Amino acid sequence: MTVPPFSLGDQIQELGDALDQAVLGVLRSGQYIGGAVTADFERDFAAACGVPHAVGCNSGTDALVLALRGLGIGPGDEVITPSFSFFATAEAISAVGATPVFVDVLESSYLINLDQLESAITPATRALLPVHLFGRPVDMERVCAIAERHGLHVIEDCAQATGATWAGRPVGSWGDAGCFSFFPTKNLGAAGDGGAVSCRDPELAQRVRELAVHGMPRRYLHTALGYNSRLDAIQAAVLAVKLPHLQRWLEARRELASHYGRQLVDLPGLSLPAPGPVGHSWNQYVLRVTPTEELHCRDWLKQQLQEAGVSTIIYYPIPIHRQPAYESLGYGPGSLPVTERLCEEVLSLPIFPELGEARQRRVIEALHRLMPAVQPLVA
Ligand SMILES: *Cc1c(COP(=O)(O)O)cnc(C)c1O
Repeated sequence: MTVPPFSLGDQIQELGDALDQAVLGVLRSGQYIGGAVTADFERDFAAACGVPHAVGCNSGTDALVLALRGLGIGPGDEVITPSFSFFATAEAISAVGATPVFVDVLESSYLINLDQLESAITPATRALLPVHLFGRPVDMERVCAIAERHGLHVIEDCAQATGATWAGRPVGSWGDAGCFSFFPTKNLGAAGDGGAVSCRDPELAQRVRELAVHGMPRRYLHTALGYNSRLDAIQAAVLAVKLPHLQRWLEARRELASHYGRQLVDLPGLSLPAPGPVGHSWNQYVLRVTPTEELHCRDWLKQQLQEAGVSTIIYYPIPIHRQPAYESLGYGPGSLPVTERLCEEVLSLPIFPELGEARQRRVIEALHRLMPAVQPLVA
């Protein structure tokens, strides 16, 4: 039996009855779009994010688009963001007509390099869009200080970091807006697509809410060109069952991550992710494969692990700035060297709250068997 990178089996086992009842309740109510179930979840999710407002929508991608549009960002505007992220981060910036400006990440954290971020600011810059990648929170005190100095908006991509905190405060409560994804593999997953925008400003919340429903403040009056992007009641019902368990699940992720850290620390050819900070939510456990012999590179290890019954994933094999879709922006090879190297070296080990000791041991044992085999080339 292969150890999967992610599995919902045990979670469904645990919450099955509650989920069945919640979903059936919505089915029988006939209220599938909007209604009390969605409103109640939005209220509870806002509270979990430490903000007064959360607006549900169709996906994390839409959350980014809605937040950007809600803040008035569009053609002619630049938004600074990392290239080491899921494609949707930049795609959303382009979708509103603005231009993503990519900066490199730090090798130590995989997160946006804040020195480079500040140097990338131009008169056209309107917003900073840091990504809490793999669940690790960006230093939001510093991002907000930079934004304030230059009069910029801050939009947090919290898609991989639901429930994470920086300096004791939830991600999504620092910037003008936080954008969350409820894609099934995220920290808080729906039974399908879903997302939310968190914010403190009631007017921004209202604009986002209107944009998500065809720019319609009241029935059949359209004051902006918007979208059809709502959080379905069935998804809200599933999320409402899961939300009370989120912090317990994050604790399980943290324990798995620190166990990987202790058990893999001495293996040659592996660079482990930095441990802290305490608010890290470990949506992914991403290490780097840096052996001395070319043959035993990341792709070799991935293949060997697969044969040993351990499935891993590469987040992400191609940096956003090198994607064919962004060829026209003109970022050549070597323009963001840390990002480009990470894309060749990273490998994500299985990590999810129900992974458990036995399955994690199989991952660790497989790595111990495979990595000592790597010998440095003898001259
Ligand atoms: C998943 C993800 C998104 C997009 O969320 P969807 O719900 O899949 O649209 C955006 N940014 C990052 C960093 C993500 O991981």
